[in-house]
Amino acid sequence: MTPPHAFVIDIDGCLSREGVPIEGSVEALRKLQELGVPHVFCTNGWGSLESDRAERLSRTFGVDVSGDQVVLSHTPLRTEVVRRFRDSRVLVVGEGCAPVARQYGLNRAEGVREYGERHASLFPRRRSTAAKVQDDENNPVRAIVVFEDAEDLGEALQLCLDVLLTNGNPCGPRVLIKDEDSEQKVEVWFTNPDLTYAGLARHPRLTQGSYRLCLETLFESATSSTSTSYSVPSTRTRKERRLKAMTVGKPTRLTGETALSKLLAQCPDGTTQDDITVYTVGDNPYADVALANTSKSLRFCVLQLLLCTDHTRYIQ
Ligand SMILES: [Mg+2]
Repeated sequence: MTPPHAFVIDIDGCLSREGVPIEGSVEALRKLQELGVPHVFCTNGWGSLESDRAERLSRTFGVDVSGDQVVLSHTPLRTEVVRRFRDSRVLVVGEGCAPVARQYGLNRAEGVREYGERHASLFPRRRSTAAKVQDDENNPVRAIVVFEDAEDLGEALQLCLDVLLTNGNPCGPRVLIKDEDSEQKVEVWFTNPDLTYAGLARHPRLTQGSYRLCLETLFESATSSTSTSYSVPSTRTRKERRLKAMTVGKPTRLTGETALSKLLAQCPDGTTQDDITVYTVGDNPYADVALANTSKSLRFCVLQLLLCTDHTRYIQ
């Protein structure tokens, strides 16, 4: 007997573009609801609670969507990261995302802007340089979580680099430069591996994965040189140090597992992964097909409604 089907559905470029439904998507979602087919919406979108995104989806497509059916880029943080950093200081990158992080349970999360206000001389282009940097020796930042693209990329890069190189206390020494055997103690979590996304502009737009490259390059340059300032790669004199970071979001394993658990929650009690055939539906081979490959029960599927999307823009 064929196992029941379930769907993990991409949103941007698949169901809609910049919030406007793609032809056929409304009818497809209504059909899934009428038939009672388990489905979740899985996107590398960000910046809100799942319940808020569900409300927007309901309005856009005219169907009932609950927060339990939504997997955002940062949804997997609700388990792993919250469990480990619940009461630790966490620096959050992404405009307006610190409140979301606190609602997730990261009780001491601060946004880049909030953190910068209390460490005013770290980014003098925005604030007075006269203010003293607060000494956090006994209360260092333990993790940097990039929820979404930085509101001010320059400020975010500077503050993240300060926190990383000093192991959480920018008032203290840059231990990762001073001692090449020292360990990176601040964990870094990214929530979207995509380099670009498809907007209304003719060409792809930069997103989080591109900004990650910037931080990695600066980190590696800073820690590979004995100079007190950051040097260009050709002057490296030390063994190379790479930024240690984790990534969630499509197509990572943690995001695949999160989507699967939400699908199983819609199935009758006792249903397991082996009892259902899960299809991923999307327009981006590097996110949606790759997500399907993270789990043996996920398969990529191109539905008729997707044929109107321009796949070639992702494959150039
Ligand atoms: Mg897409």
